[in-house]
Amino acid sequence: MKNFFFYFLITLISVYFSCSDSESQNEEENNSDDQITIPIDIYKKIYGISSEITISDGFVFINTSGVPDHKSPYFKDTKWHSEKYEPYDTSNPNIFHTGSFNLNPNRVSELSISFKIPNSPKKASTNSPTSMGPIGVSLNGVPFYNQYAGMSEPLTREINSFDNYNGHPAPLSPGAENGSGGRYHYHMEPFWLTTNAGKDALLGFLLDGFPVYGPEENGKTISTSDLDAYHGHSHSTKDFSEGIYHYHTTADTPYINGSGYYGTPGTVSN
Ligand SMILES: [Zn+2]
Ligand SMILES: [Zn+2]
Repeated sequence: MKNFFFYFLITLISVYFSCSDSESQNEEENNSDDQITIPIDIYKKIYGISSEITISDGFVFINTSGVPDHKSPYFKDTKWHSEKYEPYDTSNPNIFHTGSFNLNPNRVSELSISFKIPNSPKKASTNSPTSMGPIGVSLNGVPFYNQYAGMSEPLTREINSFDNYNGHPAPLSPGAENGSGGRYHYHMEPFWLTTNAGKDALLGFLLDGFPVYGPEENGKTISTSDLDAYHGHSHSTKDFSEGIYHYHTTADTPYINGSGYYGTPGTVSN
């Protein structure tokens, strides 16, 4: 009888320890950025939309016109001229310029851009490069572009055509930048958003579903050397207390994304 109780006790103890083991394993899984599903309320920070944001079949659908909500010299002679045109402000120059502002011949146009982005972003087993054209969506509905002006051609020559908010429109005729007529976009930190929401704010999402943050974090300015090859890293943020992989805009090249998407990208049509 004594032996029986002893055996019973040992069994109880081993059951207890195996249960607590599996609980700690589950916690680890929940903390992994591969497990996250982004709540719709976070996507609703994207205010520059042309229809309601919806989630279905594991994707979030975001439609925008791509027209910025801030002024720009690129509204010159467009239908928005009287309310949104402003000449380039040389008293508040774009810090990325290497020479004087060069207004390109393109103008903002209204488009119908549809982003289909994974709602549960995951690290890709094979990373794919970004394409020319939209690689993500910012909070005001303006698309993010990559670090190139053309196939592997750096932005050097184009930088001086960025307006005071660090954006510019693509050519009206198809050609360089895979331009769908006059699509305004940001290759670098969108100053309108970081001025209004903060240098450490959520700025939008890339096509793989991972969020993009501004160039500061916990009072520190982030540079490319703080980030991995895709231009991001994983830890908790204001919007994701459990931790998530995220990109940062930086003042140094490659500005928003590095050598392709960290996750598997969704699609964009326009
Ligand atoms: Zn461009
Ligand atoms: Zn970070």
